[in-house]
Amino acid sequence: MQDQEIAREAESLSEEQKRLYRIRHSLAHVLAQAVLEYRPGAKLGFGPPVEHGFYYDFDLPEPIGEEDLPKIQKRMKKILRTREEFVRQEMGAEEAIRRTEEMGQPFKIEAAGDLRDKGVDVISFYTSGPFVDMCEGPHVANTGEIPADAFRLDSVAGAYWRGDEKNKMLTRIYGLAFFTKEELEGFIERRRLAMERDHRKLGRELDIFHIDESVGKGLPLWLPNGTVLRDEIEKLAMEYEFRYGYERVSSPHIAKEELYVLSGHLQHYKESMFPPMDYEDEEGKREVFYMKPMNCPHHHLIFRCRPRSYRDLPLRFAEYGTVYRFEKSGELAGLLRVRGMTMNDAHIYCTYDQAKEESIQVMKLYKELYDLFELEDYTVRFSTHDPANREKFHDNEPLWEASEKLLREALIEAGIVFEEGFGEAAFYGPKVDVQFKNLLGREETVSTVQLDYVAAEKFDLSYTDEHGADARPAVIHRAPLSVHERMLSFLIEHYGGAFPTWLAPIQVRLVTVNDDLLDYANRLKDRLRADFVRAEVDDLPHSFGKKIRNASTHKIPIVLVIGKREMEEGQVTVRRYRRKEQETVSFDAFREALLEEIRGRVHVKPDEDAPA
Ligand SMILES: [Zn+2]
Ligand SMILES: [Zn+2]
Repeated sequence: MQDQEIAREAESLSEEQKRLYRIRHSLAHVLAQAVLEYRPGAKLGFGPPVEHGFYYDFDLPEPIGEEDLPKIQKRMKKILRTREEFVRQEMGAEEAIRRTEEMGQPFKIEAAGDLRDKGVDVISFYTSGPFVDMCEGPHVANTGEIPADAFRLDSVAGAYWRGDEKNKMLTRIYGLAFFTKEELEGFIERRRLAMERDHRKLGRELDIFHIDESVGKGLPLWLPNGTVLRDEIEKLAMEYEFRYGYERVSSPHIAKEELYVLSGHLQHYKESMFPPMDYEDEEGKREVFYMKPMNCPHHHLIFRCRPRSYRDLPLRFAEYGTVYRFEKSGELAGLLRVRGMTMNDAHIYCTYDQAKEESIQVMKLYKELYDLFELEDYTVRFSTHDPANREKFHDNEPLWEASEKLLREALIEAGIVFEEGFGEAAFYGPKVDVQFKNLLGREETVSTVQLDYVAAEKFDLSYTDEHGADARPAVIHRAPLSVHERMLSFLIEHYGGAFPTWLAPIQVRLVTVNDDLLDYANRLKDRLRADFVRAEVDDLPHSFGKKIRNASTHKIPIVLVIGKREMEEGQVTVRRYRRKEQETVSFDAFREALLEEIRGRVHVKPDEDAPA
């Protein structure tokens, strides 16, 4: 990033953020000063503040590796103790170029020349002690303002000058910086946890999914364990939606071009669709098909295929529908960004009068599901239109006003806390986005609710109202559990792979003290499986201790330990993942409690202080 862009970005921050920003930017200068001492003759690239810290790019006479970082960090701490002032000096472009030439810094000369060519006539420099940098600022008043125990040099990476691979590769040194030592350590701990819980790592370790290049990027293969997770979540959605009065429908994965002309996808969304399948049928007639990018058009056709009366409404069509979107390959990441995804989709067709109550019910369903998963770190964003922007939003002001009022009231009545985003609505109506925060605080939109008065017009959807006249229904799009891929990337990280019993791929593992007890264990397993419990016996030739450790590595929620005494008395010893106490109970009592726990989708949490 250019220094000027940095300065502009700094203006939009809060006072607190600005202070941290100045600290981070100043630390970048201190880093450069320390590196010039450590590797005299180093050439300086850019050194901006970034999320969580700062970096500086160098062209080095002799390489620097991670092993050098403690020594450089020590020099930085020494510099901080000098309490050097940051002094700003401004000059004209020509003088600035001369100054960078005197500094003998070729990248700075180039940057100064660029500023001159862009017509910038005042260029600033910051001096702190012996170090000078061409820089827009802002900085702290002196290095004494920088908390010396709240930063750490973090890593070394290669980076092309100005991010262009045609340019020279420079060495980038990253640092972390916060206000306090506690914040720094807290961040490092969260990052460690995030890495440990990364869904790609756990997806491999727990046999959840696999991405094979010969299937294609962004097209995950779900292994048996991952498929259990998908099935259980789909079952959950089916049950809740059944209770909320939804009916399930199914639609094919491909459809003819004309459907996506009608829906407008080919006019507005083509770059996100897979290229067409083009062929001639038996009579030589050319037909063009596309992979389905959204389920909406299909559901609209299901609504349209029969005459509908006001008495039929609301109609709520739900489908775990698989859609394909051509995301850029550089943006694909594990399960978070994929090209094939199966969505917890539904469309509600109702009268305008019913739209508010339907929206309230949708919000309630969202809340129930998120509460079940104990998801708390999410924000709800209500996006409205900008009446001045006729390009971005369809032109019907009274309709916008009515629909925004309705959705806002629905959010309030459902007890949802939300923030508003002016001018962020969809083309055809206001929407509600649910954004989840991961461990590192990064936000991802997981689900959207949209109120749509345009689809009915476009697809000529109608029903007969109380007076026998044709009327247009309102359409609500909703997908609380997002797509399986994205939702599971969150849930894997949320639970750290230690799923509640109802969701766990293997719910119960039976471990015997010796092999003589295997027959008995298998009989118990069969009884559990007859009740659809995912139970298995560990009959591998391993020691008892190793079997217990393996069950823990695979984060299996319940281990049943079976010894001779347990067999004789019809009992089992129940050990739960990361819980200290264990209990010996009759098998029947265990079985009953287990079925109750699964049916109620109860989450028995690990002890806080139990070892991992
Ligand atoms: Zn600077
Ligand atoms: Zn839709």
